[in-house]
Amino acid sequence: MHVEPRHHASTGHSAGSPSASSAESPNGSPAGLPADPPGDLVAALDIGGTKIAGALVDGGGRILVRARRPTPAREDGETVMAAVADVLAELAGSPLWARAGAVGIGSAGPVDASAGTVSPVNVPGWRGYPLVERVRAAGGGLPVELVGDGVAMTAAEHWQGAARGHDDALCLVVSTGVGGGLVLGGRLHPGPTGNAGHIGHISVDLDGDPCPCGGRGCVERIASGPNIARRALGLGWRPGPDGDATATGVAAAARAGDPVARASYERAARALAAGIAATAALVEVRIAVVGGGVAGAGDVLFAPLRRSLREYATLSFVRDLVVVPASTGTDAGLLGAAAAAFGTRPRGTALR
Ligand SMILES: [Zn+2]
Repeated sequence: MHVEPRHHASTGHSAGSPSASSAESPNGSPAGLPADPPGDLVAALDIGGTKIAGALVDGGGRILVRARRPTPAREDGETVMAAVADVLAELAGSPLWARAGAVGIGSAGPVDASAGTVSPVNVPGWRGYPLVERVRAAGGGLPVELVGDGVAMTAAEHWQGAARGHDDALCLVVSTGVGGGLVLGGRLHPGPTGNAGHIGHISVDLDGDPCPCGGRGCVERIASGPNIARRALGLGWRPGPDGDATATGVAAAARAGDPVARASYERAARALAAGIAATAALVEVRIAVVGGGVAGAGDVLFAPLRRSLREYATLSFVRDLVVVPASTGTDAGLLGAAAAAFGTRPRGTALR
């Protein structure tokens, strides 16, 4: 997939950054848009363990209509699907729906894009669930493209965010887990099942702790938010008066100079750096974009991450690798799903 950015000014529509919520035009038809042909929009679905977000998105990455439902994650598979269908029905109620030419889905994983199925770890009712087929039926037969959430975030960052203009990039989502995706040779590289770039389960500690994935010493086992907090607590750190015992609380303590809190972030940063350096040596990415809640720690994470990269990324062709924060924010999933949908259309009117 290759999504070319389009100048916002070309539509004469000054919604500004597509990543900002101010880009939203709540009631359909944005004034001043030229008479675009049908199919110039896509429907995007961002499906996670807590919410199902939907949007109609244009070729410039602007979100024109939104819909959202909580994910009934503990319910059976058909109940979860009914929530997805509700989101689609709400989008279809917009007059802009007639302009939608495809549906893109970014889903919590694992996904199997080749089979059109999903098995999100935190949605037990969906195991090998035929999501693509069901969304195609609910969406009136529009073509459907499925990617994992890490790949979706990567597509969003390449299209509208910090990886824009970079032909070779690794994007990481560091939050409850650690996911990621790759852009290689200017194109998103989802791999056959849509999971390529899943850096969280590269082992960086051969004799490390067992990981729920079945491996050992995975990046995620060290660098995810819950593991940052777990290690800090295990070494004697205690939350402050606000009682925040999550990675956010550890970050606040690290910022205030707490040595144990700092050490936990340092170790997470080293694990991420080792994984990023390995990826760069394998496929020559030039930039690593880091998003997700843990990236919100800012310099508490990025300073040791950049320092550690100098330790692990030493060869001439990886030495200049840069690490930057992601910039598409909470809309990354929707924008990435939209980018995936645009990328599959044989003759997209808005892109390429
Ligand atoms: Zn693992």
